[in-house]
Amino acid sequence: MTNPFRQVLEQSVVVFSQNYLPVCRVNIKRAIVLLVTEKAEPLDFTDSSGWQIRSPSIVLQVPKHIRLKIASSERTWKIPPVNRREVLRRDRHACQYCGSSKHLTLDHVIPRSRGGQHKWDNVVTACERCNSKKGDKMPHEAGMHPRTKPKAPMHPTIAFAEQFWMDKQATSLE
Ligand SMILES: [Zn+2]
Repeated sequence: MTNPFRQVLEQSVVVFSQNYLPVCRVNIKRAIVLLVTEKAEPLDFTDSSGWQIRSPSIVLQVPKHIRLKIASSERTWKIPPVNRREVLRRDRHACQYCGSSKHLTLDHVIPRSRGGQHKWDNVVTACERCNSKKGDKMPHEAGMHPRTKPKAPMHPTIAFAEQFWMDKQATSLE
């Protein structure tokens, strides 16, 4: 048996920043808290009907999109420092040469001894084996190239916004 109320609670709402940039997705309970505490307001698109939550004493209209009335973190975000934790997170805890998730270290694609810098576009996750196999060689000398071209992590808001509009486009084409 499906409980319609429970199904509504499993829905999610897209949160927009004050500047109308989609920033994240929250569950409906969190959205209700933001609306009730007036930290957010409904943001209506023509295609968003939202949900109606009924209890014996109250009827609550929850839109599919809400907009924050308070400043979000989009202005305070900075590119994280190039360290083990952040690089592993970016590379999803996988060696960029063989895909292993064990004994992970950091590798400089262009070795530091050859002038490579400790920057986002030159540091990748590598397992100990690949790291020692590559050693001080250049990628073409070792025949080892990272699976994806390393770059600085994207601003989470921008990443979310891109995905949001992509999904939206996909839905409207259906
Ligand atoms: Zn490896």
